[in-house]
Amino acid sequence: MFLDVKDLAVRKLRIQRSYAPGSLDYGAADLKQAEPLEVRASAELVEGQIHIEGELQTKVELVCARCLEPVIEEVHRPFDLYYRPLPKGAKPEEERLKYDDTEIGFYQGEGLFLAEVLTEQVLLALPMKVICRSDCRGLCPNCGANLNHEECRCETHATDPRLAPLARLKQEWLKKQ
Ligand SMILES: [Zn+2]
Ligand SMILES: [Zn+2]
Repeated sequence: MFLDVKDLAVRKLRIQRSYAPGSLDYGAADLKQAEPLEVRASAELVEGQIHIEGELQTKVELVCARCLEPVIEEVHRPFDLYYRPLPKGAKPEEERLKYDDTEIGFYQGEGLFLAEVLTEQVLLALPMKVICRSDCRGLCPNCGANLNHEECRCETHATDPRLAPLARLKQEWLKKQ
């Protein structure tokens, strides 16, 4: 759905849409939309800026930062956003730097794709790192075993390298006995 400034200049737009999993591109390999994304919003033109206000709801599947198992995260995010027209020849990143408030968005040319607004809002709603549960034990750095499901033997068999010379001395001493 394209939010065209010419249309918005005429009337406020009411949006109620559902985006099936796979129809939005989040640009993130370890993020999958697990349920339809539902959005209710209104869009209007206010002094040349596109004003979008509403809320979205969905569920996404992420990867646990410790054990790499899938984690379902519920996303419910209200938003109230303004997008300014991007001056000709300017890059969005450069324009953004002029403002302290990084929440300012820009649109280029005739308007803005709603999908871009939504995917950005979903990404902003998610924590930097997710874990499947607070006591997730993660993977063994040695053998890669998922320690939530199995005990690996690495820990019990590993010898402290600093103790190796002592162990050798003890062996030799035992042999001499
Ligand atoms: Zn985990
Ligand atoms: Zn192990």
